Amino acid sequence: MELKRRKRWFTTTLIIFFWVFLPVSAGPVNYINKVCIDSSPSINPDYFWIPLGCDAPDCCPGCPSSPIDWHLRLTGNAVESVILRFENLPTGAVSNLKIEGNASWLDGNSLRVGKGEATLRSFAVDPQAPVPIAIPQINLNVQEVVDTAIVEFQVVQLIGQVAVNESRIFYQFQQCSSPSNLEASNTEATEPDRIILKNNTGMDNAVILLAGRLSGGCISDRIFRGTGDIPIGNMLSNSAACQSQVAVFSDDNAMALVSDITQWTDATGNELPIALSSPLQIHVTVWLARPGSRSRAETDIVNANLRFNSNNAGIAFVADYQDVSGVSGGTPIGNDKDCLSLDDIQKSPYYAKDRLNVYYTNGPFTGVTCFENAAVLFIGTTSLDQTLTHEFGHSFSLGHVRAPDFGSNNLMWPNVSSRTDFSVGQAFRMNVNCNSTVNRIVQTRPTLMCQPIAMNPSACPSPVPCPSLGLNVVPK
Ligand SMILES: [Zn+2]
Repeated sequence: MELKRRKRWFTTTLIIFFWVFLPVSAGPVNYINKVCIDSSPSINPDYFWIPLGCDAPDCCPGCPSSPIDWHLRLTGNAVESVILRFENLPTGAVSNLKIEGNASWLDGNSLRVGKGEATLRSFAVDPQAPVPIAIPQINLNVQEVVDTAIVEFQVVQLIGQVAVNESRIFYQFQQCSSPSNLEASNTEATEPDRIILKNNTGMDNAVILLAGRLSGGCISDRIFRGTGDIPIGNMLSNSAACQSQVAVFSDDNAMALVSDITQWTDATGNELPIALSSPLQIHVTVWLARPGSRSRAETDIVNANLRFNSNNAGIAFVADYQDVSGVSGGTPIGNDKDCLSLDDIQKSPYYAKDRLNVYYTNGPFTGVTCFENAAVLFIGTTSLDQTLTHEFGHSFSLGHVRAPDFGSNNLMWPNVSSRTDFSVGQAFRMNVNCNSTVNRIVQTRPTLMCQPIAMNPSACPSPVPCPSLGLNVVPK
């Protein structure tokens, strides 16, 4: 009986939930957590724009002809304003729109939105003209960007009372580290310890992730930025109680990891040199079982290389392409995402050891990575531009991500086309996790096992403390 009542309550809740939220067509969501912003006065969220109305067909009642209202909401202690730069605004749109609340035009294309709420009333929609879009720039109040400070910006588009699109940006900050905000014992009087980067290709503003021991106790998840000579405060000698580790992420270089650091002593002025090397090369054989899929596959590999490098993941893909679309009698690859035929595939001539094997098939799906052997990936006919990059993320041990820790800008968010970002915590795991195919294939460094575990962890050590999965930086 109790069970029944609970069930009914649950069903009622579900119905209310769907009734309330179904009319909203999910727009882009951009969540970045624990972000260290390196004193930049503004943030331009990568590839984030807000289209007027709904950009997918059939998803907003009355679209595209009815006028649309934009309800804007800007909150957070670290934000000063958001500038929305519009493109494709029709002539006269600025004078026809009614603005209520804390927003005003800077010029014919740029709207300044202050903290609080504002409404833009009666956006006229012309179905023949290009869709107007708004690109946000977030202006920060830099003095207020301290640990746990947040910025939240929300745009809800309504036709009458019906919400037809919602876009959301959320940042949570942590301070970038420096010698002065590490609670060091005696940095004022003497030289701090330093990390000296060598071979930093292009002198990228590298991301340094640091764990160690200070006079006040253990520290972890501390982020420093720098190109070569990076002061870090006075780190003390190792003790069993504290992890001692530095990871370096820099584009056009492999991730560098130094553990159990012996260079740091209780004295000041110690130097830890870290020589960076070129990105780790992962060889991929792309098996083209679908006729005519080569150019799609080549574009997917280019996109994967772009995203892995721009997110400082330190991994580069080197692909060779095998056209098996005309093999007589077929191959065990079949036309689907068939991880059940993994054994047959691995015994066949259409599988190469010591590398990733990506199969472009005729199946109507986006992409799949096999749990039992994450070196086997399938790409189907409905794949998106980011699908192969996303599947490489699975192959390298990552699972899916969700709000509130991540937004749909993250490459491990399933099935959206707005994905551009791997967090620093994800880049760390792809490189070090024992169940990442990086380490099952290339075997270049001692491996760890970080939580959360998403892919096959057999023959891996027990999990150890790792940087937070969502730990991130802007800009990369
Ligand atoms: Zn996935």
